[in-house]
Amino acid sequence: MNSLNRAAIGMGIGSIVCTAWLVRITTGQAAFERKALDRCWQRIHDTAKRVNPDCVIWLSCNEVLDPILRDTSALREVDRMMDESGTPEAMRQIAPLLGPRTQQLLCLVGWADRHDARNILSDTGNEKYGIYGFSKPNADSLPLPVSRYLTRPLESFQGNDRNIAALARFFNREPFDFVLPPLLDSHYHWEGHSDLDEMIRLNEAHGIKLGVTGEGGKDWGLKNDVALEGFVERLRGKAVLKGLQVYGPDWPTRYSTATLTQLDYVAADALLFPDKEGRSVALWGAGVSFPDAEDFMERYVEYNVQVLNGPINIWSNPTFLPDSLQSRYSQLWTRGRMLKVIRAAARNHVAVELNSKYRIPSAAFVRLARHEGCRFCMGSNRHDKEPGDLDYSIRIYMECKLSPEDLYYPAGVRSK
Ligand SMILES: [Zn+2]
Repeated sequence: MNSLNRAAIGMGIGSIVCTAWLVRITTGQAAFERKALDRCWQRIHDTAKRVNPDCVIWLSCNEVLDPILRDTSALREVDRMMDESGTPEAMRQIAPLLGPRTQQLLCLVGWADRHDARNILSDTGNEKYGIYGFSKPNADSLPLPVSRYLTRPLESFQGNDRNIAALARFFNREPFDFVLPPLLDSHYHWEGHSDLDEMIRLNEAHGIKLGVTGEGGKDWGLKNDVALEGFVERLRGKAVLKGLQVYGPDWPTRYSTATLTQLDYVAADALLFPDKEGRSVALWGAGVSFPDAEDFMERYVEYNVQVLNGPINIWSNPTFLPDSLQSRYSQLWTRGRMLKVIRAAARNHVAVELNSKYRIPSAAFVRLARHEGCRFCMGSNRHDKEPGDLDYSIRIYMECKLSPEDLYYPAGVRSK
């Protein structure tokens, strides 16, 4: 009665996960427990496969070498077998006991410093194993967004975070010393409801600089020189870039060149869309719909080209569609329509924003735009307390294999 040995076995079936803790008190009970395990396994296996013959049964085990598991039908019949400790040597030892179709997985994240994801993934001898990781809830809850693991070197993370950072690189087929270039969130609307210095500090820690973007329309917001001068004054001495998001084709008439040149960039989108009667429709509003989607797209493309022909630096919210049309995005943004707006952006040297709020434009659009010579910038399109969410922007940057040379960095407004 002196050896207390525990083997934790989790059985995951589709969305159903059951976990059993087996406690072996003496070696004399091993045979009994193996029988119990076999009966338990048969019930799970038969039920799951009867309900769905194609289901995958995944056995997650923290002690794959536990003698209780030896010669059990569970090992022979399971679809996926994971070693939670992520020890390739242990997996090699049990390989002869597994069935011919069993896929082996290594868990490389979850046990903090006891896992060493980088080391295991660097060994080509481990290529045959599936890779997995989990993260238990911490005091500050969830792990960081995936993109944040790519903005700093692997070595700057500790414990589980370092292993997650290794997986983030491995899954993106990047080397372990990969680090994103310094990033700029050039679409941040700070309206004075948060401590800007704190926002700057929090984002700098993740390699993200902020571009504070004021907004000005015909008769609202930063609508003239006086308002724009005040905006520039509030940001004086802050380690941010200063931008202006403009609305309406007549925007250059509202400001003097002397005032505009105090900015780092001017951005515009086509979301205040002039309808056939000349009224402006806010495309992001609820319930906006167009009975003839093709007709809308033709006019929308033309309006985007008009916006892109203005003296702006950044095309914000590119390819945005109203809620009612978003499910048809790839169908409505035909190659011909994409090329029209892309070529207008390239011709006018306007950077295409990778927008993390609306998760636009698509990867297909970005690849085409890159091919046509466009450059890109990243925008959270968030207000006050929420700058720096560049998750989609970074995902697209990685997916489309963009490089630092593909990114636009503001260097002053264009002449009117
Ligand atoms: Zn905006």
